[in-house]
Amino acid sequence: MELIDLRSDTVTRPDAPMIAAMANAAVGDDVYGEDPTVNELQDTVAGLLGKEAALFVPTGVMSNQLCLKVLTSPGDEVIIGENCHIYNYETGAPALLSGVQIHPIPDTHGCMELDAVEEAIREDAYYLPRTALVALEQTHNREGGAVIPIDRIAAISRLAGERGIARHLDGARLWNACVATGITPGTYAAHFDTVSVCLSKGLGAPAGSVMAGTRRHVEIARHFRKIWGGGWRQAGILAAAGLHALRNNVERLREDHENARLFADALHDTPNLQVLHTPQTNIVLFAIRGTGAPEFEAHVAQFGVKISAAFKGKLRAVFHKDVTQQSAMRAAECVRAAAEGLSSSGENA
Ligand SMILES: *Cc1c(COP(=O)(O)O)cnc(C)c1O
Repeated sequence: MELIDLRSDTVTRPDAPMIAAMANAAVGDDVYGEDPTVNELQDTVAGLLGKEAALFVPTGVMSNQLCLKVLTSPGDEVIIGENCHIYNYETGAPALLSGVQIHPIPDTHGCMELDAVEEAIREDAYYLPRTALVALEQTHNREGGAVIPIDRIAAISRLAGERGIARHLDGARLWNACVATGITPGTYAAHFDTVSVCLSKGLGAPAGSVMAGTRRHVEIARHFRKIWGGGWRQAGILAAAGLHALRNNVERLREDHENARLFADALHDTPNLQVLHTPQTNIVLFAIRGTGAPEFEAHVAQFGVKISAAFKGKLRAVFHKDVTQQSAMRAAECVRAAAEGLSSSGENA
């Protein structure tokens, strides 16, 4: 029996039509700016986000970090939600690569409060760090794929703009937010100077992210991408997968959201297990009683399902292109059986 892998939406594999698109891609040397498929992808994403230009890069981390590099100077401060990817899962790169200091503030339920952002903005004094950037994440990974309301984004963006502070969006799963709300990527992106999006999560491409901003931002980012070892050659093979994903796999994210809901509903009232939220997109967070999260992760694997012990004792299941509705339902049955079997049923161990 094949394992149902719900650890992340990064585990998707390219399907046959995507592989065909990759095999047939027109390519050239992207360091010379001569890969037609890379150029087409960059123009397409810039168009979708309403930005002047865009740059195709290997990973979401590189994409985010290039945006931070472009929008800050060493010694600057960056305001960011304390649960955000840039702060938690990018290996301290803002300090290493841009020499900036992160100013984390609470972002429970997906987003920082406007008041908290305002409070975190430094006054203008020679002995204080300069607040250069506010960064948001849409959807919010650690907050269970929460969608930040557009009004909140607009308010934070307006405040930052008024104070001369740049705005970046980590839109690794922006596509999920768009499908969940019907709001276009361009409408979200209009509130930011730079935006990073991933092609390798729910969209199903094997690798690749894109950063977008002004022509000048992208020119600087291209320079640093090369410095950081990301100048690639016939990257059109990967760009073709990204273009294919954008054309064919955005609307189907809806199915992942539906599967996340079905999974969460099916686990309702499971002994020893508590679903922590109503999923808005493709991520379900839950807590377990009677054992630790890593132990439960290992236990569930015996039942044929891979989930991940995410953080702070929470477990995470992520729905994606390679999980059918039938598999989602079977996964729920397996997780339920695993939870019911915990010996300390009813006790709060
Ligand atoms: C996955 C992810 C990224 C980028 O991750 P890579 O593995 O470097 O592609 C950035 N931000 C968020 C919120 C993510 O979930």
